[in-house]
Amino acid sequence: PISADDVPADVREQHARLSQDLDDHSYRYYLGSPVISDAEYDRMMAELRELEARYPSLVTPDSPTQKVGAPISNEFAPVEHLERMQSLDNAFDDEQLAAWAQRVGAEVPVEAFLCELKIDGLAVDLVYERGRLVRAATRGDGRVGEDITLNIRTIDAVPLRLDESVHPAPELLEVRGEVFLPAAAFEELNARLADEGKPPFANPRNAAAGSLRQKDPRVTASRPLSMLVHGVGAHRGVTITHQSQSYELLAAWGLPVSDRTRVVSSLEEVRAYIAYYAEHRHDPEYEIDGVVVKVDDVALQRRLGSTSRAPRWAIAYKYPPEEVTTTLLDIKTSV
Ligand code: NAD
Repeated sequence: PISADDVPADVREQHARLSQDLDDHSYRYYLGSPVISDAEYDRMMAELRELEARYPSLVTPDSPTQKVGAPISNEFAPVEHLERMQSLDNAFDDEQLAAWAQRVGAEVPVEAFLCELKIDGLAVDLVYERGRLVRAATRGDGRVGEDITLNIRTIDAVPLRLDESVHPAPELLEVRGEVFLPAAAFEELNARLADEGKPPFANPRNAAAGSLRQKDPRVTASRPLSMLVHGVGAHRGVTITHQSQSYELLAAWGLPVSDRTRVVSSLEEVRAYIAYYAEHRHDPEYEIDGVVVKVDDVALQRRLGSTSRAPRWAIAYKYPPEEVTTTLLDIKTSV
């Protein structure tokens, strides 16, 4: 290994500059007003990873390659998540997907993968105590998020009380999901903003972020946000054996779960799911930027564990960016 002192000064400078730029872009992105495209951000991140592969001593815990999200603003009260919220590792082509499946298969006997759409929205954490929604927070840096309970309560898709007609509510349930603005609502909102002489949002994701992070929940209430849940954090009084089984429970409790999720038993079937949605990318009412593949069995998920920023038992297969989100459009944002 190369010691810190062996890193040439110009490389160290380049690393510091890239890291600072990535941190700044991350901060703006999570506020809902990015100034560069995701493809450009991903390119800078790849450049940083390359430097760190060449000089491993540059990999410190505060490097953007090791972190989740961004530190929170001081506009909302901080909330510590009961269980860490993570990000996802990416596969940008079939080779990277196959390499992930091989790594996983070499460690545990996988019988089922869960294929889900990767919703391009905002990660949110909901906490239910004895069936009552007591808190909602943004992901923040994965450990501490922003308290947006009042805003989340305005979203019709989010139950304030869990439905107990099929199963009693558990003592504690932390659920994770994605808040988004449906495509039709996004068009309407931008038309309305234009009528009012205000700048439009560049894309539905920014619109959802801007709408959710409002100091006045009445503004949030006027924006028809929706949500889908895709994971469970801390829980007490419920046994979860499979990710797919957890979705059945969540659906029975009235939480919004996607009906496009599929359990499959081979990498070939994962590929078919990815190919199908590459062709039908605009069928869902929300924007997607890829497919998330997860090991379905929770005992195997535990054995695989996770890195500082992402689980080893899941991967995000990213579709190539679409032309519509240009850098120019990205600059025009609104709050
Ligand atoms: P990510 O968006 O690539 O993936 C992780 C997130 O996916 C999870 O936190 C989860 O909330 C979400 N997700 C959606 N559907 C899911 C499902 N079915 N199952 C599980 N999770 C699901 O990672 P990230 O860390 O949130 O952000 C990185 C992305 O943000 C990159 O694509 C990057 O381009 C973009 N970004 C852009 C800018 C910019 O300035 N343009 C800045 C920072 C980040």
